[in-house]
Amino acid sequence: MAEIKLSESRDLTRIERIGAHSHIRGLGLDSALEARVVSEGMVGQTKARKAAGIILQMIKQGKIAGRAILLAGQPGTGKTAIAMGMAKSLGEETPFAMMAGSELFSLEMSKTEALKQAFRKAIGVRIKEETEIIEGEVVEIQIDRPAVTGVASKTGKLTLKSTDMETVYDLGAKMIEALGKQKIQSGDVIAIDKASGKITKLGRSFARSRDYDAMGPQTKFVQCPEGELQKRKEIVHCVTLHEIDVINSRTQGFLALFTGDTGEIRAEVREQIDTKVAEWREEGKAEIVPGVLFIDEVHMLDIECFSFLNRALENDMAPILVVATNRGITTIRGTNYKSPHGIPIDLLDRLLIISTEPYTKEEIRKILDIRSQEEDVEMSEDAKVLLTRIGVEASLRYAIHLITAAALACQKRKGKIVEIEDISRVYQLFLDVKRSSQYLTEYQSQYMFSETPLKEGDDE
Ligand code: ATP
Repeated sequence: MAEIKLSESRDLTRIERIGAHSHIRGLGLDSALEARVVSEGMVGQTKARKAAGIILQMIKQGKIAGRAILLAGQPGTGKTAIAMGMAKSLGEETPFAMMAGSELFSLEMSKTEALKQAFRKAIGVRIKEETEIIEGEVVEIQIDRPAVTGVASKTGKLTLKSTDMETVYDLGAKMIEALGKQKIQSGDVIAIDKASGKITKLGRSFARSRDYDAMGPQTKFVQCPEGELQKRKEIVHCVTLHEIDVINSRTQGFLALFTGDTGEIRAEVREQIDTKVAEWREEGKAEIVPGVLFIDEVHMLDIECFSFLNRALENDMAPILVVATNRGITTIRGTNYKSPHGIPIDLLDRLLIISTEPYTKEEIRKILDIRSQEEDVEMSEDAKVLLTRIGVEASLRYAIHLITAAALACQKRKGKIVEIEDISRVYQLFLDVKRSSQYLTEYQSQYMFSETPLKEGDDE
């Protein structure tokens, strides 16, 4: 029960995070990689977006692997938004994995195991296989079942489905061998003995007989369409190393991919998979597609994690690592030393640093406009002006939070569009950081465990 709760809460944070950046559809660059002022949901921050675009180009051309980029800047200056923009601009096949530094500190697995999994989620394997197919109709073959559900539809091609691709190709080859070029009638049933691999044509009536189910787990059946067996097609699958790990990890099984409850994966499993992938690469059957791993709040990592990153980046299959932080000079977790962004100097030295800058009033206004549209909230001009001022004086994020709250206030008074009064109502209901700390300073004596910072010259 406890385990279920853990995975549920993790999913919820992910939904919230996606929501905050759902208006970002790319980096908003033109073909010369110059940042358009407003495009694809992105506003301003042109230098950083351009820099991110160049990195992206290098990734797409396969020119870099194992590099690391640091997005550094004050809170709310769009670091996560830029990482999301990069993710959206990557091709479908390029894996993108995202995590927050704090996610590493869970009870489910060790920090380095969690990092290993994150790295392997960001490494894709493109596997090319030649397969034998029957021209004609679609047949689905479910392997490793007591009996097959072979469904033949009108047109198309033969699809062999299984999580175990080797079995599929093996099966395809055996079918060719056993049946040669002979014609197969639509509805024919072919039995394949799992143990011996012997293939027999059973004829059409068998498909309708109950013996179908009675044959037991030893036998697989393929219901064949009309057509000739032909060698025809190259199939390409793209999976991540993590997916291969999970599918092959006997304790977890592929269902863990859906629940996210993968647990630790044994080192031997990974070693075997790496060896297999290396073999496929040598045979020209597979290519590695280095993706992007984004770690937000990287200052939450500790010295152990940082040295893991240092080493992991040296692997020739390493993905591009993008990390982000809003910290200045701070303590490296797990040590008593301070360093810029709380990142050890040796790792910092490997990073290409992209810095983000605070937004102008106009940019804040534009971002708030885009967010209001995204959240489906209509607002009067005056309300927008007020909200922008709040964005400038409190913070962009606080102003973004007020959009939906103000819409609810508007709904409550049965209004159609958000007016100044709705904004000021929620402004009074919800404190921003500045007002909240002011309040705390005034009333701190009434709170538990409060510590007043000592003024210079005060005695301890
Ligand atoms: P933190 O350091 O606190 O994690 P951050 O730099 O990662 O902050 P974001 O979370 O990216 O900041 O930005 C805050 C909100 O503003 C998000 O909803 C984000 O999508 C939006 N935002 C920030 N910058 C831009 C931008 N240039 N264009 C459009 N939306 C933006």
